[in-house]
Amino acid sequence: MNGGGHRRAQARSSRPRTTIRHHAMDSPLKVLFFVLPLLALIAAAEGWYLQRRRGRDYDWRAYFASLADAIGRRAVVIALGSGVAGAFLYWIWEHRLATIPMDSAWSWLGLFVGQEFCYYWMHRADHRIRWLWATHAVHHSPNQLNLSAAYRLGWTAPVSGAALFFAPLVYIGFSPLVVLVALATNLLYQFWLHTELIGRLGPLEWVLNTPAHHRVHHASNPEYLDRNYGGVLIVFDRLFGTLAVERADTPLVYGLVKPLTTHNPLKIAFHAWWAMFRDLAHARSVREVFLTLLGPPEWHPAASQQARRDDVCAARGAVPGKGECAAVVAARAARGG
Ligand SMILES: [Zn+2]
Ligand SMILES: [Zn+2]
Repeated sequence: MNGGGHRRAQARSSRPRTTIRHHAMDSPLKVLFFVLPLLALIAAAEGWYLQRRRGRDYDWRAYFASLADAIGRRAVVIALGSGVAGAFLYWIWEHRLATIPMDSAWSWLGLFVGQEFCYYWMHRADHRIRWLWATHAVHHSPNQLNLSAAYRLGWTAPVSGAALFFAPLVYIGFSPLVVLVALATNLLYQFWLHTELIGRLGPLEWVLNTPAHHRVHHASNPEYLDRNYGGVLIVFDRLFGTLAVERADTPLVYGLVKPLTTHNPLKIAFHAWWAMFRDLAHARSVREVFLTLLGPPEWHPAASQQARRDDVCAARGAVPGKGECAAVVAARAARGG
């Protein structure tokens, strides 16, 4: 037994060692911060164009809130590093099956497709698991879709563990560093998707994620909710049945199902966490705790739903728990409120 362990240890030590360190984990994502001034400048040019040339009402307060979010995120990442997920990815790297040399086009192609596949599932989980949605809701909070929304990404990714979706790539032999290079490239690609100025792009729409596909992703109408999760590619949405295309009879409504109107970066960063922990305080069983944290974002504990109804009653001057309250709630539900 000892001999086997020794051989395994030898096999590990004979692998080409990497010089990257855990603290270097977020270095590819740093690029996103260093190009931020350029992205913000392009986003401002878009705002100027929309306002001056198209006569549109551009939300400059949302523009600056997104900029503050991006700067705040960098500060949080500096403070927290790559978080638990980063440490775990490095642990997996130490126990990987193989080392894939990045010296051929095939390796890079494999990395690209593999990263897109993992990103698709991470993004889908971001939308359907509330613990992950608490961070990702920030990206969906702008009520207008423009380029400034692209870098509003939330601050809490280092603690959410979403990076674990990339663990299979590391396990089969892509280093955490090259996986992050691929992810940073993916996120940078997505910048241009956040605009209404580019229409449909013909055959490119079959394979690539485009502004038309991503506008649908940012819409909160029931017809479009939780669709088009792809990063650079849209093929996994086609494959796994999550593709939606904008319909002529249903204009896109951007933002969250319950729109967020604040421009305060702190409230933007933490509003969904606050709502989740408020629900958690109303959870009355292990099942309710489990579903509050890991169920879909629209699920709420029974007591929390009652508290919301009581809030509606109180806001309308009715007494919670009385018949008049039930009438107020029913009237609101009938109006779709
Ligand atoms: Zn999303
Ligand atoms: Zn987006």
